[in-house]
Amino acid sequence: MDIVSKETRSRIMARVGQKDTGPEILLRSALHRTGLRYRLHDRTLPGSPDLVFPRFRSAVFIHGCYWHSHGCHRSTVPKSRREFWEEKFRANRRRDARDAALLRERGWRVMIVWECALIGKHASEPKNVAERVRVWLAGVEERGEVSGHLPGTSAPKAPESRLSRRETDTAVHAAGARGGPGSG
Ligand SMILES: [Zn+2]
Repeated sequence: MDIVSKETRSRIMARVGQKDTGPEILLRSALHRTGLRYRLHDRTLPGSPDLVFPRFRSAVFIHGCYWHSHGCHRSTVPKSRREFWEEKFRANRRRDARDAALLRERGWRVMIVWECALIGKHASEPKNVAERVRVWLAGVEERGEVSGHLPGTSAPKAPESRLSRRETDTAVHAAGARGGPGSG
């Protein structure tokens, strides 16, 4: 018996290949309000990054936690045909890693914004997520990552990034403290 209902499965399948997903729209609107400008789904770059900031030579992917196996509460593996799904998710992760590596070889910085940062029970206000993107763009870290909050627990496994959540949080605070005239 299928654990995932027909409705759930068709909802999941309908999202394959769909570009303008809910979390992406939320982040795009919030970023737009900060004045940052970007290109969308640049097919000339590996993985067609969702958002591309040419001025910062930076690419941002908004990853669905389910398809990209974030490891958070939104990324369960279906109980039926488990091996099939696990292989599919592994393939997605391999592709994500390859795309990020290719981008970095070409001198692009890469940030992953997980959908759980924008929707669901651990989400932040889109404007706060946009702020973390803005701070990362202005900084020097080659890689960035934003996930939903996980109060009182360790971070979910993020195969793609070695950047800890704490570092990105600190970056936001540091940016908040900024604002005086620059010292050069
Ligand atoms: Zn997630």
